[in-house]
Amino acid sequence: MTARIRIALSKGRILEETLPLLKVAGIELLEEPSKSRKLIFPTSDPNVDIVIIRATDVPTFVEHGAADIGVAGKDVLMEHGARGVYEPLDLNISRCKLMVAAKKDVPEPEGRLRVATKFVNITKQYYAEKGEQVEIIKLYGSMELAPLVGLADKIVDIVDTGNTLRANGLEPTELIATISSRLIVNKASMKMKHNRIQALIDQLSTAVENNR
Ligand code: AMP
Repeated sequence: MTARIRIALSKGRILEETLPLLKVAGIELLEEPSKSRKLIFPTSDPNVDIVIIRATDVPTFVEHGAADIGVAGKDVLMEHGARGVYEPLDLNISRCKLMVAAKKDVPEPEGRLRVATKFVNITKQYYAEKGEQVEIIKLYGSMELAPLVGLADKIVDIVDTGNTLRANGLEPTELIATISSRLIVNKASMKMKHNRIQALIDQLSTAVENNR
């Protein structure tokens, strides 16, 4: 019997850059997700479907086995913890950097640093490793605004071209991690559906190599 596989992806860059890789592995969506309100999509392989969910939910779905496989940014995996999943392949897509940034030409504040971010866990760990006590301010978006309006001294955010920082008079000061999207696999699925999943990993791995 052929194993059924469910793949969790998130809208936007990850979906756009993962679909061509899946196509090489013989998996194609049958309809355009942006034109549909559906959440589960069948594919050209009758034993594979794709769920399209929020990026930060992908590790949760895979960890609990609601999806066998997923694609998530390393930033999302670091923030989530994602200890219950395998991470067998760097897909080398959606590359960017996770950085600390601050207002240009502004001296370090005296007293405790205030850092605004949506990456609370990563930021906590980063400053704990540096032995620095900071106040972390959780935001859900537009982190760049925080130093401009006096909400924080620094931000921890994703940087790609650096255009967003520059447009707001900010500059990157420290690199926390280089980020790319990773294939993640549920641990039980890896055992129970080993042949199908290993074949898919091998095909994706070849597709990634050909992309380089
Ligand atoms: P940029 O202006 O090119 O440096 O892009 C910065 C903004 O784009 C950030 O605020 C991020 O939220 C978003 N961004 C860029 N690359 C990625 C990525 N690979 N994954 C998620 N968000 C990204």
